[in-house]
Amino acid sequence: MAMRLDVTVAVVGAGPVGASLACRLAESGIATAVIDRAPLPPMEHPDFDGRAYAIASGSRPLLDAGGVWPRLPFPACPILGIRVTDGRLGRPASRLSLGFDVREAGSDAPFGWMVEARSLRMALNARMEELPDLSVFAPAEARVERSEAGARITLTDGTEIAARLVVAAEGRRSPLARAARIPFTRFSYGQEAIVTAIAHERPHENVALEHFLPAGPFAQLPMSATEGAEHVSAIVWTEEARLADSLFALDDGRFGAEIARRLGGHLGAVRPLGRRFRYPIGAMLAHRYTDVRMVLAGDAAHGIHPIAGQGLNLGFRDAITLAELMEEAAASGADPGAPALLRRYQRARRADNLLMLAATDGLERLFSNNIAPLRLARDLGIAAVDRMPRLKRFFIRQATGTAL
Ligand SMILES: Cc1cc2nc3c(=O)[nH]c(=O)nc-3n(C[C@H](O)[C@H](O)[C@H](O)COP(=O)(O)OP(=O)(O)OC[C@H]3O[C@@H](n4cnc5c(N)ncnc54)[C@H](O)[C@@H]3O)c2cc1C
Repeated sequence: MAMRLDVTVAVVGAGPVGASLACRLAESGIATAVIDRAPLPPMEHPDFDGRAYAIASGSRPLLDAGGVWPRLPFPACPILGIRVTDGRLGRPASRLSLGFDVREAGSDAPFGWMVEARSLRMALNARMEELPDLSVFAPAEARVERSEAGARITLTDGTEIAARLVVAAEGRRSPLARAARIPFTRFSYGQEAIVTAIAHERPHENVALEHFLPAGPFAQLPMSATEGAEHVSAIVWTEEARLADSLFALDDGRFGAEIARRLGGHLGAVRPLGRRFRYPIGAMLAHRYTDVRMVLAGDAAHGIHPIAGQGLNLGFRDAITLAELMEEAAASGADPGAPALLRRYQRARRADNLLMLAATDGLERLFSNNIAPLRLARDLGIAAVDRMPRLKRFFIRQATGTAL
């Protein structure tokens, strides 16, 4: 016989945003269902996703409160410094660089932690299994019907779920957003991100490097040691899409040499580790985040350039705001899908997401060119910001999500 279930919140999409939100809600005693159309265990495989996330210090409370952080199977690597340089391919970077150090932020707490996507996925899967107030359906296709009175979700096996609120967290090109006819603004950068890991001769000292090159930003992100490699970093290398094919196809020796050429010599000799992955790059923003008994969260609502490693962090901030509103409604007995409450969510999140989209887009356009006077102006700008402690503290608060 088909199963029937009554929940407060149904989250469609068990990606990092949907699954983290579901854990946090269930941990607070809010009956929650999460549905993903893909099976979850294959997402733990090293070949599924090569990304490593920079998880900002402001995002960690979500993972702590959901009981996810203690389940991470591999150690997260703290980020204690960030260096930004205006790069010159094959030549030394400009000597005018911008450096951030945790001590400048007035504490010893890391800016954030580098966590492998696979590690986060394993922790989420393990935690979701343990929570009595959480029902997980994956793989399952969901048919969602919504009205002022409530939402009904019918799964492929006939399971019926009644919910007060549906959260669309299916990532970019959300079918639920499309069905609700929510308009989006989208733009492409004509770039791809090549993602891989490297072993290197010298320690990274927990410093992340963002090297702006004309074809796009090149990031080296500190990772914890692995078996067989003491000094390890993740690489997010943004390239013009038309060049990505040939760079991706290089043998390990030449691929490593191209990475070393972009990195500069500060880490000594480098050696590529494991597989390479590639991701198309674009940005998008939903014109509204709400519809009848539904909200959008994470990449379903907004997608940004990975230049500052903030996309998932924005999604985590959506989840934090939503969880707080749901907890407030549960405590006061209010309807968690009431239009006024959904409007509060949109007001709280849209401005923050738009600001980050504009900032990352502006940075990308400012640095992705080789025009000499502009290069000089931005080098001088970088050096000037480096000498302004208050402005630097402002940037730190934005990047770590502690400004809210
Ligand atoms: C190269 C690169 C590097 C990045 N690095 C960082 C970083 O360092 N820090 C950071 O904060 N962000 C980073 N990001 C951004 C980050 O990857 C995304 O913001 C994040 O993955 C979004 O998570 P999500 O859960 O919203 O969506 P997704 O990760 O896309 O998950 C969506 C989930 O929904 C499921 N789904 C899809 N359709 C349906 C459906 N119809 N029904 C049910 N389920 C469905 C999918 O199977 C999936 O499990 C990076 C992005 C790129 C491309």
